[in-house]
Amino acid sequence: APAARAVAAVKQYGGGDAAVRALDGVTVALAAGRFTAVMGPSGSGKSTLLHCLAGLDRLTSGQAYVGDVELGSASDKQLTLLRREKLGFVFQSFNLLPTLSAAENITLPLDLAGRSPDKDWLDTVVGTVGLTDRLKHRPAELSGGQQQRVAVARALVSRPEVVFADEPTGNLDSRSAAEVLGLLRTMVTDLGQTLVMVTHDPSAAAYADEVLFLADGRLVDRLEQPTRDSVL
Ligand code: ADP
Ligand code: ADP
Repeated sequence: APAARAVAAVKQYGGGDAAVRALDGVTVALAAGRFTAVMGPSGSGKSTLLHCLAGLDRLTSGQAYVGDVELGSASDKQLTLLRREKLGFVFQSFNLLPTLSAAENITLPLDLAGRSPDKDWLDTVVGTVGLTDRLKHRPAELSGGQQQRVAVARALVSRPEVVFADEPTGNLDSRSAAEVLGLLRTMVTDLGQTLVMVTHDPSAAAYADEVLFLADGRLVDRLEQPTRDSVL
């Protein structure tokens, strides 16, 4: 099965004259082990698609799947478990807890789930994100790029089937953004992660294997890209 897919996905906010169709019949399948970017103008439905595929919000009609789980027939409790067990999230704001160290922030999802980290995997993730010598620092003692790296590591520790990222470089200067994008690329290429990233930035989308273009809630184009080793 594809890692995630939407079938005739419609999402409407509000009703009557005030109704907004954020998604207007999107059908798309995202293959496992790939980096997919979702682009489009502001208000085109990118975040809504991401939220509905990630089980953070529900479709008005149509289906959304993670693997072979159809999210519309899952209870809220099942969706919460699915997010915790199978999905990872990276947002534009890093959402780190200020009183915890980098290491504690990274392992927080496992701690909350009552699981202990696989030491080898944790070392691999921390090494891949380049934080080995920053683990004792608190978020305020890290640069924006380093904070976003902590957020990426946190999304990976539970070995999620899919990582969803919503404008993960939106708050970063161009150098930090390039670092984080290179890291996301590495996650996919070296660790086999499946990654879906919303961005309005073409230079960010350049790191993806495939780019989906949304306009007015519809999928209007789909572009395969050669893997850009040269941008790394
Ligand atoms: P994008 O991520 O491409 O900027 P969004 O998915 O955030 O687009 O929004 C798509 C459309 O749906 C926009 O018109 C937006 O104003 C509307 N929208 C998004 N979320 C909500 C919401 N919670 N309530 C009402 N309208 C919303
Ligand atoms: P993004 O860059 O992710 O599109 P937005 O500022 O559009 O960020 O949306 C931030 C949050 O506000 C999202 O959870 C989205 O669902 C919600 N939202 C967006 N547009 C509206 C709207 N018109 N009315 C209510 N909530 C909205």
